[in-house]
Amino acid sequence: MRGLGAILMLHHVRPWVERAFAPPQNRLLEVTPECLDQALTLAAQAGYRFVGLDEIPSVLEAGRTEQPVLALTFDDGYRDNLEFALPVLRRHRASATVFITTGFADRSACLWWIDLENAVRNASSIRAQVGAETITAPAATPVEKVAAFELLYWKLRARPEAELRAVIANLRQEHGVDSRGAVERLCLDWDGVRQLAEDPLVTIGAHTLTHPMLRQHDTDFARREMAAARDAIQREIGRPVRHMAYPVGDKPSAGPREFRLARELGFRTAVTTRPGMLFPQHGAHLTALPRVSLNGLFQERAQLEALLSGIPFWLWNRGRLLNVD
Ligand SMILES: [Zn+2]
Repeated sequence: MRGLGAILMLHHVRPWVERAFAPPQNRLLEVTPECLDQALTLAAQAGYRFVGLDEIPSVLEAGRTEQPVLALTFDDGYRDNLEFALPVLRRHRASATVFITTGFADRSACLWWIDLENAVRNASSIRAQVGAETITAPAATPVEKVAAFELLYWKLRARPEAELRAVIANLRQEHGVDSRGAVERLCLDWDGVRQLAEDPLVTIGAHTLTHPMLRQHDTDFARREMAAARDAIQREIGRPVRHMAYPVGDKPSAGPREFRLARELGFRTAVTTRPGMLFPQHGAHLTALPRVSLNGLFQERAQLEALLSGIPFWLWNRGRLLNVD
């Protein structure tokens, strides 16, 4: 059930800081350095071999491997990847790919999910027009804030991305959110990206210019987001960029058109956030690879062991090996 191995997906790696309001949906995007350390120890004990994404195509094309492989990936380009994840990677000699959104590195794009969290944190009540619906929610206490965030988050995710971004821009203004400050505090700038790129364990990949849900936009826009990000990163780090991750990366955000575009643009691999292990069949779908999310929900040893067994994905995918349509 674990097939040839897996590509692990992470975002933030940082010590947990207790806070009154931490929406579960964003909490999913962080693990502690100890959790990453434990996951890599368990993976090695379970027989996994750490590889970079560069090695994945040949493993898939061979269709067999002595030991199952594990490739680590980090999305968005957070400062904590350099500060907290890299020391753990070094301890385990584990390779990783960090996918950079160029707009975060140059401070021109916004982390809308963080802006939404900060708007709800600042607000005592929320009022927003989403489609035909006026959403109002109290947001005075931490419990109310979590409920308000969840309500808004899922209502907005069901709407076109342009609307999601417009509503969050309004909330940002109304509740005094420092969007650029959040990007500066959380994301690597180009110097940081270069520092990361210099480590032989690290490969830098592309994660578009502005972090859009590509499938919702026209083909020219999607192609430009993918190609121009790669070109900009290559210019900044002076190395070829061969891998990309689709922002958000679920089925509504990346589909067959994006998989084809990534192939046409010459990416060796491209990864989704669709859950699953790697099988020989993926050799024909190198730009539609599944990943296994190592997240805030899976910090217990037993859960990590289950994750590495591949069994949860077998169940979720009902025995289907490929999910590429
Ligand atoms: Zn992302």
